[in-house]
Amino acid sequence: MADPMPIDRAAAERVLAEINATEVVEFLQALVRIPSVHPVGDTREAIEVCRAKLADAGFACRIEAHDEVKHNLIAEYGTTGRRVAFNAHVDVVPTGDEGNWTYPPFSATIADGRVYGRGAGDDKASVTAQVMAGVALARSGVALNGTLIVNEVADEEVSGDGVLHSLHVGMNPDVVIVGEQTLGMVAVGEKGAASSEITVFGRTAHGALPWEGANAIEGMARVIVALSDELGPKLQTRTHPYFKPSSLSVNLINGGVKSNVVPDRCTAYVDRRIIPGEDPAVVVAEMQEIASRAVAGMDGVTVEVRGADHIAPASMSDPASDLVRAMLGANAHLGLDTTLTGFSMATDGRFTARAGIPTIIYGPGDPRLAHVPNEWVGIDEVVSATKAYALAALALLS
Ligand SMILES: [Zn+2]
Repeated sequence: MADPMPIDRAAAERVLAEINATEVVEFLQALVRIPSVHPVGDTREAIEVCRAKLADAGFACRIEAHDEVKHNLIAEYGTTGRRVAFNAHVDVVPTGDEGNWTYPPFSATIADGRVYGRGAGDDKASVTAQVMAGVALARSGVALNGTLIVNEVADEEVSGDGVLHSLHVGMNPDVVIVGEQTLGMVAVGEKGAASSEITVFGRTAHGALPWEGANAIEGMARVIVALSDELGPKLQTRTHPYFKPSSLSVNLINGGVKSNVVPDRCTAYVDRRIIPGEDPAVVVAEMQEIASRAVAGMDGVTVEVRGADHIAPASMSDPASDLVRAMLGANAHLGLDTTLTGFSMATDGRFTARAGIPTIIYGPGDPRLAHVPNEWVGIDEVVSATKAYALAALALLS
């Protein structure tokens, strides 16, 4: 069981005194107004805004690029000892039809105590809170027993190459706090994935003589119904104290040759998310078994299930670790939620976790508002997260 780490009251006062809500919001607005949309994922300007702010507060900053326009920031402050990293991403997903937005997506309009815009929550709210927490810690002059690293990166929405490059060039963190939209709750880790491509094979024939062929689309229909009927209820029972249940969603389908030809091929993409304890290879084999049985009675139809682009086990840090307890301690100190949770989406944290570095996820905003029109984040949430990051770093570096 995790109990919150106590935080030195006097030092906390000094750090919190350096956090100014207006300055935090203005920084977030400046970032949202830079359209760092992926593709193409040009992060030069957004990273420069972060670099300038941190350098001004006394951070040693270096820009590490893994591509001409994909810049990543590694900013360090402190001394020898433990290395605590904040990580978040400055690339954002496209806006979709701008007509669906109440306020222009790069206006960073303030209304109802919220900042609206593409990336306001995902992930520039976390970037802002991390940068401003670092600035507050440096300005406070509180002595640290280690180094705070602020790592803001490109390429999270597509590949993870920004954080991977940062690790490759020697960022060398001992622990990582990834900023994503956890509603200000401490997420001990994130779900894994066993995304799969299902291919049903049949045999073509004239559409007027269907008995001569083997219909791959009809085979796929049976496979999808079987996955839903047989696997769906099972996944509901695969639960975990911190995570939402295991899940499956058929998100892409493609098949057919021509309107008067019996189709010999149909493919579907299954987005399968897994909890700690589930093995991706076993999960893919389980879907193959159900799919094979679903088409067993169809003459000439076969099915193959193969792992696709996103295969990773779930990752989770020890709830009793200093890292989890420090983040909880920060929330406890601020009177915020101290319930532990697990993150349902994939983050750059899967790469740091896979590198053996204890990783948690924490940040302002609601994940349901990510990637949709009228994305917003509450100003209170961003300011609270700024304070929480600063206190967690203080606790880990005291
Ligand atoms: Zn994100």
